[in-house]
Amino acid sequence: MIFLNGQTSGELHAALASAGVSLRLARQLLRTAVRTGAWPAPGALSEVSPRLLERLRDVAAVPRLTRLERVESAEDGFVKYLFRGDGPETFEAVRIPLLHRPEDPKYVVCVSSQAGCALGCVFCATGRLGFRRDLAAWEMVEQVAQIQADSPHPVRGVVFMGMGEPLLNYDAVIRAARILSEPCGMAIAGKAISISTAGIVPGIRRFTAEKQPFRLVVSLTAADPVLRRRLMPVEAAHPTAELMAAVREYHAATGLRVTFAWILIAGVNTREDDARQLAALTRDLPITLDLIDVNDPTGRFQPPSRAELDAFRDALTAHVGMPVARRYSGGKDIHAACGMLAGRLPPA
Ligand code: SF4
Repeated sequence: MIFLNGQTSGELHAALASAGVSLRLARQLLRTAVRTGAWPAPGALSEVSPRLLERLRDVAAVPRLTRLERVESAEDGFVKYLFRGDGPETFEAVRIPLLHRPEDPKYVVCVSSQAGCALGCVFCATGRLGFRRDLAAWEMVEQVAQIQADSPHPVRGVVFMGMGEPLLNYDAVIRAARILSEPCGMAIAGKAISISTAGIVPGIRRFTAEKQPFRLVVSLTAADPVLRRRLMPVEAAHPTAELMAAVREYHAATGLRVTFAWILIAGVNTREDDARQLAALTRDLPITLDLIDVNDPTGRFQPPSRAELDAFRDALTAHVGMPVARRYSGGKDIHAACGMLAGRLPPA
């Protein structure tokens, strides 16, 4: 069965051309499937006869996610959605409000790419679940489409930073990103779609070789390989040295500044030495550093105090000298913040 909301328009055209579907019609089918979540009504598409539409029903479908819950943060307007797709596993997406410019209110959606995750970062609730399964492209597209349908303002950005490691589900993630960015899909600009990785080196190399138009974010969190291995077991399979070689290739091929995410953990990776090691690791490489407070529901890891954070920022400015942004990780009261997604609702 061909899913109209799970293929790019080019793929739909290739798959359905023998049934009489032109590229123009493929675009209309994709647009209708993504934006309405429904099979096209007879007569709704100028390009297609009711008979052809009926014939297509035998080979194509528009699957939908079941929305199990929607919880809105009373603190900051973040909204967490719990979905079920093609299987019993549940997964989450988060709507992040960008309402600081009243003349252009919009949202970014944080999408899950897998149910659970195999990488086991010690500060992450998803990692504690273990890996359940990869999500299909349509299941990722539908997270964004359903949230758009539920929203008063447009979704203008997507971050693949929810549950799962996107580069371990590479084909489906890239297909979903393409559908989201197609003008006849969700028409979200490629550079407003970020794909985050904990450091899957072959995936980064493939991303570079394929000249993907999306943004890459690398979760580094520690520049010392021994510490990194303690926090992010993926370091054992893809050591920092190899990761940095792949990141440098990415920069050389694209000319883009590389964005690193750094999960801030009090007393663990916020010392002057951490800044010094990061400076040594990234020498001559233009980077942006996103600092994100750890959100560990177990309480084992704590975010730094104001004073500790200020001291770390000063050290980064002194040693690294690159732009540092503190990314607000909201929705803590509804367990929607970075690292808190666990495919279930918070206790009432
Ligand atoms: Fe997986 Fe990302 Fe959580 Fe690490 S932080 S366990 S890569 S979901």
